[in-house]
Amino acid sequence: MSANLLRGKPIADAIKSEVEAEVAEIRASHGFSPCLAVVRVGEDPASAVYVGSKVKTAEELGIISEHLHFPAETPHEKIVDVVKALNARDDVDGILVQLPLPKHIDERTVLELIDPEKDVDGFHPVNAGRLMQGHEALTPCTPAGVIEVLKRSGIAIAGKNAVVVGRSNIVGKPMAMLLLQENATVTICHSRTANLADVCSRADILVAAIGRAGFIKAEHIGEGSTVIDVGINNVSDPAFARELFGPDDLEKRLGVIENRGFTLVGDVNPKDAMEKAANFTPVPGGIGLLTVAMLMKNTVTAAKMRRKL
Ligand code: NDP
Repeated sequence: MSANLLRGKPIADAIKSEVEAEVAEIRASHGFSPCLAVVRVGEDPASAVYVGSKVKTAEELGIISEHLHFPAETPHEKIVDVVKALNARDDVDGILVQLPLPKHIDERTVLELIDPEKDVDGFHPVNAGRLMQGHEALTPCTPAGVIEVLKRSGIAIAGKNAVVVGRSNIVGKPMAMLLLQENATVTICHSRTANLADVCSRADILVAAIGRAGFIKAEHIGEGSTVIDVGINNVSDPAFARELFGPDDLEKRLGVIENRGFTLVGDVNPKDAMEKAANFTPVPGGIGLLTVAMLMKNTVTAAKMRRKL
């Protein structure tokens, strides 16, 4: 058996087209464009790439974007003042503080300061609480993207056994809540779960959000299941790459390692998932592409909710 690949691009493109149309409609009917402010502190190269992609996508869809970039040594109080000022501005609909922040800035204080109505990352405890209680909320982009992939690929969620490996506040826990909201029977696993392979292999839908390359293997994957790989890891060892990729992909991946020094791999062993699962999201090219699209969707939702459109 070879799994059906659930590619992220067509789904992310469809969501972006819908957002673009909605932004045009808001502009035509209400005379403004939603505005997203992105705060970045320091020179983390991955953050620079992520923020660049968020700002560029916003502009493409007609969303006004502001990129506020501060040097790494900026004091905590200054970032607090920046967030407060963005909270107070009526033209700003969404505020995103790119993580990680430099160590001297207290991440939690900063995130909890964001007005929940403008919290487009969905990390504020008020939004986490609303999601938990099943009320309308701004939800974290990556797990919300997973739900879009499942729904738009025609994969039934209601009544299915869903297993989420990982319990972080940004992926695992909100993922479990969203699956529950869709009427799945949900199990959350973590580093202390006993008999992980047993639990995972009984899943109809298995979501891996662990942060360990190729950790989920054949023994964890149920025949005919849907495997969603949220992980993004670098693999630079050609011997390890041989364990991860089947003959159709291996040569390409080894070439990427040789040219770039590493290849991107999820938390699932792709060779095993392709053999056992019915559906599988590739890395790269899977869930990663949904995150920015869902951020754009959240920005429009935040604008509509706060301005009561
Ligand atoms: P965290 O490190 O915050 O959480 C990892 C989770 O995995 C923890 O709950 C941890 O359990 C669990 N875990 C670790 N080791 C094991 C193990 N041996 N067995 C079972 N569970 C284990 O990571 P994130 O949630 O932030 O991210 C997870 C992955 O998703 C990463 O690869 C990250 O790069 C990727 N990611 C991708 C995004 C995208 O856009 N596609 C966005 C965000 C993240 P415990 O709580 O017990 O320690």
